[in-house]
Amino acid sequence: MNFGKLQLSDEFKRSLSSAVDKDAFSHAALFTGGTVKERKDAAILTAQALFCGEKGEKPCLKCVSCKKVKAGIHPDVTVVSGEPGKPRSIKIDTIRDIRNKAYILPNEAPFQIFIILEASCMGEESQNALLKILEEPPETARFILAARSRDDLRQTILSRVSVFQLNDESGQAAGEKENQKAAAAGRKILEAAAERNEFKIILGTAPLEKDRKAFKAAAETMALTLRNALISNYKADAVTNELTGRLSKAFTPGEILKMQNLLKTLYSDADKNANENLLITRLSTGLAECLSEKPSGK
Ligand SMILES: [Zn+2]
Repeated sequence: MNFGKLQLSDEFKRSLSSAVDKDAFSHAALFTGGTVKERKDAAILTAQALFCGEKGEKPCLKCVSCKKVKAGIHPDVTVVSGEPGKPRSIKIDTIRDIRNKAYILPNEAPFQIFIILEASCMGEESQNALLKILEEPPETARFILAARSRDDLRQTILSRVSVFQLNDESGQAAGEKENQKAAAAGRKILEAAAERNEFKIILGTAPLEKDRKAFKAAAETMALTLRNALISNYKADAVTNELTGRLSKAFTPGEILKMQNLLKTLYSDADKNANENLLITRLSTGLAECLSEKPSGK
């Protein structure tokens, strides 16, 4: 199979290629992992490969079928998509339409392909309706589902599909590791703030330079830690760890609130693509400013 510019794991390419090339593509597949766009691109590319009219490596991307699929005008390809982050945005009526259409014979291809992107946006009802089709799929219908994770779909659906993972587990593990690194940086910065050591604060921000994702993860960790510290200020029996306990002693509630506001602003600015270097500077100077008042009697 020709994957063009799509950067996907070797395992995904190998297993999908072997299914498509050997004409062994099962009646229902689920693509997981990757980004919303990568999942969509992989699903469209697969439909192209299944319908490509050229001999040789498929999809050729040049024949009429390939072009029609790409343009979204192939009569035998139906694409529906949920809105990422909006549960139940794939309505049951949409799935019912697919079911009705699936029993009609294809127009020009040997079968019809139904692509359901962001399939996790199907509520209970929609998933049940889809399950009924997958249990007794018409001979002339193939289904490609795409979802962030297999955990987003019900087990009954999973048992009816072949799962293809877009990027290998190590890619996801790497992302997880990055997050942990950023969270650790966030905690270090708070420790430096607790010591009222401006120089250490600046040093602590170094791992977040030129890395917007890490900056956001660190800001999130800091805000959460401060929130716990604030709670432990008021509730003696609150669940705390060593750091939140230390922070609640080191900062006044007023200081914690100021820092929380600062982090909230910086997080939303980071989301809006504010200049990364400025964000770092604003974090270190902002924290120092929050601490200008002397801790009362401590
Ligand atoms: Zn083609």
